[in-house]
Amino acid sequence: MPPAPVRFRDFERIVFFTGAGLSSESGIPTYRGTGGIWKEYDYEDYACQRAFDRDPDKVWDFHDKRRAAVSACAPNEGHRVIASIQASKAGTTIVTQNIDGLHQRAGARDVVELHGSLWRVRCDADGIVRPDTSVPMAPRRCACGAFFRPDIVWFEDALDPRNIRRAQEALTACDLLVSVGTSGVVYPAADLPRIAVMHGAVTVEVNLEDTPVSHFYQHRLRGKASEMLAELAS
Ligand code: NAD
Repeated sequence: MPPAPVRFRDFERIVFFTGAGLSSESGIPTYRGTGGIWKEYDYEDYACQRAFDRDPDKVWDFHDKRRAAVSACAPNEGHRVIASIQASKAGTTIVTQNIDGLHQRAGARDVVELHGSLWRVRCDADGIVRPDTSVPMAPRRCACGAFFRPDIVWFEDALDPRNIRRAQEALTACDLLVSVGTSGVVYPAADLPRIAVMHGAVTVEVNLEDTPVSHFYQHRLRGKASEMLAELAS
């Protein structure tokens, strides 16, 4: 493996922008690759508000399967490297598109979860959000009588503007942006790294292969996220 073109130790304000590829080494399928869940399940039946309004129990049965699958997986070396950099550099921000909670299970704090979390529920009537790690999730109804829904940004949902703002602030101020395991095609999340490019940060893309946004990055590291991150941390 060639030496890493940059090292984390030379930067103070690092943003890690992570996607499904980071968790693939933990056994969680990516969105698009082989075994991707949307090849097997149609999102219109399982992952949008319309599906939930039609049949909340069917949507919860599906999310209970995802909860069971993710809880059987453990964070990998890539998650651990990111958590240890955050612990040693106060200026680190983790912005993830993942909903699996593996950053937190590796010890990371205060993760900006752009697409929500499998491990929170939100009352579909009053909007109250609360953590919930039960598998299967129970009870499915809030005390008010309405169903809870997963606090996930489903297809056709809007992102929480507070998360977008936090990501924008971190990307404006960072001196190093490291994108890890994201295909860069899910918008608006995919647009965010450009902010760091515009503000002059050093930029690194870690992926198994080129993506449609690779040309934005000064350094393109090709290989497994866990190995590339360990190299950058050395
Ligand atoms: P994606 O599936 O579109 O792309 C994954 C990318 O990771 C690909 O470019 C692939 O080449 C790369 N990759 C795969 N294995 C890798 C490895 N070991 N090391 C480095 N790179 C690797 O994922 P995305 O860009 O995150 O977009 C998917 C959307 O689906 C997101 O919105 C996310 O919320 C959701 N999703 C989340 C999870 C999760 O929480 N773990 C899993 C699947 C999908």
